[in-house]
Amino acid sequence: MTIHDQYTDLPISRFEKSRLRHPDTGKNYRLNHKKENYQRSLAWKKLHPNYDNIMGKKYRDEIKAEIFVILGAKCANPYNIDHTAFEQNLNYIKVLQIDHVHGGGKKEIKRFNYCQHSYYKYILKQLKLGSKEYQLLCPTCNRIKVIVNKEK
Ligand SMILES: [Zn+2]
Repeated sequence: MTIHDQYTDLPISRFEKSRLRHPDTGKNYRLNHKKENYQRSLAWKKLHPNYDNIMGKKYRDEIKAEIFVILGAKCANPYNIDHTAFEQNLNYIKVLQIDHVHGGGKKEIKRFNYCQHSYYKYILKQLKLGSKEYQLLCPTCNRIKVIVNKEK
């Protein structure tokens, strides 16, 4: 029921007119065809398995690569450990972890509902603004840092 059912002498706006002509558009359409839409999206997902994963991963990897380039693609090595043997391994870059210089990473990712995607995007933005809060660490250095600083 619209306002014009009660007050028939009210002037009808252009928007209202189009609504009367096409009652099944926009929000109404979505509400009236909920089941149908849901089933259609299910069928589409069946036809394109892993679409979300592939697209998400590709995008995430691009952001991650950009972060790594800015941070030097190298372990920050705060404890002066000999890394030469590590760095010769081609898989070396894959194990590098983004670390908070002053800790608090777990709290920060909680703010993004544990969504890695938006978290990486946030880090990249901060880095571009000149943040010095982040560094790359190899798992060894990261573990030592956790023990030394008693991070949890
Ligand atoms: Zn290291």
